[in-house]
Amino acid sequence: MDFIEVKMEKQKHIALVAHDNMKRELIQWAEDNKEELKKHFLCGTGTTAKLISESIQLPVRAFKSGPLGGDQQLGARIAEGNIDLLIFFWDPLEAQPHDPDVKALLRIAVLYDIPVANNRATADFILSSPLLEGEYERHIMDFSKSIDKRTKDFLED
Ligand code: PGA
Repeated sequence: MDFIEVKMEKQKHIALVAHDNMKRELIQWAEDNKEELKKHFLCGTGTTAKLISESIQLPVRAFKSGPLGGDQQLGARIAEGNIDLLIFFWDPLEAQPHDPDVKALLRIAVLYDIPVANNRATADFILSSPLLEGEYERHIMDFSKSIDKRTKDFLED
């Protein structure tokens, strides 16, 4: 499989999502890390984005609420190359009505080589990484040859 490199700029686009039982923890983490978060572009699912924006007084672009398609919107932004980091505190103890969307978001983040934090410790490690300070090349599978081959095979049939 070939890979293509996609550059993350110094200033990262960070997506924030927390399920209801995890929102307090993410808000606390955002408050503790406000000075670092201030240097980047923030976005998130509807309720999470609004709560964090109000608590740390920074702009956080709000997409739709998770159960209403917000996770899917974030997945689309990742596929388009517009999100660099995902901080996603999902609830390990409670099923969600939009569990398929949660799984889809996590899958697309892996596919696009996006650093993902699903708990506070990982979020701390990511935010304190020296890699955050500069540009970084992510490696994404290059499906263009596969698309060309499948198109050709189909047309030749
Ligand atoms: P919310 O969505 O931020 O709108 O609560 C989060 C989620 O449940 O995925």
